[in-house]
Amino acid sequence: MTVTPSTLYQLLQSFFGNLDWWPVDSTYHSYHHTDPRFEILIGTILTQNTTWKNVEKALDNLKQAHALSIYQIQKLSHDQLTQLIKPSGFFNQKATRLQQLTNYLITRYQGDLNKLFSGDMIQRRLELLSLHGIGPETADSMLLYAGDIPIFVIDAYTKRMCHRLTITVSNDSYDEIQHRFQQDLNHHYPSDQLVCIYRQLHALIVECAKQFCRPKPLCSTCPLSTVCEYPCLK
Ligand code: SF4
Repeated sequence: MTVTPSTLYQLLQSFFGNLDWWPVDSTYHSYHHTDPRFEILIGTILTQNTTWKNVEKALDNLKQAHALSIYQIQKLSHDQLTQLIKPSGFFNQKATRLQQLTNYLITRYQGDLNKLFSGDMIQRRLELLSLHGIGPETADSMLLYAGDIPIFVIDAYTKRMCHRLTITVSNDSYDEIQHRFQQDLNHHYPSDQLVCIYRQLHALIVECAKQFCRPKPLCSTCPLSTVCEYPCLK
């Protein structure tokens, strides 16, 4: 059976329901008059090569230090920042990446995320990709979840599930898989729903991969078992 991204979305959505991803602490930001979208940008860097549980601990430390905004991060020394984000792992690298991102936002956009997320998004994506340690997955997560830009995020979970579900792609590259998902979803849903659909489908894939489509998959209870042709089901 041919599985398409829109079939995948329908099956996962009816099993898991709305996942409301990406989480931000709105109460914190309304109290501190800070931009909640910056918490998403921080989260996309902190979540590299670690679990969300560890990211939450690092974000909690930043909140305790009242450092969940562009200018507050800029005021911290490298050592202070590494201490705060330590639970997320690779903290030296991530502190450098966060400081570079912050400097870029202040220098180029005066710390104003409205300026970052307006204008030519192809250009913005290229700018983000030019920053050290920001690859396509991180840049696209920033654009989709913080910038409301309809661009689908591909991660290792998506690649694994594409293989197992035999979602047809001509090659394994990030761009090719992204194109396959966007082409199909854009065909099935109106353009004003795409940001929501892209966000939700990425979150659904992550959830399904964590609960069922693990390295050793739990196919017998997976909500995709009726359409999946992975060998363990035969
Ligand atoms: S049925 Fe098995 S292989 Fe297929 S998506 Fe579910 S867990 Fe993965």
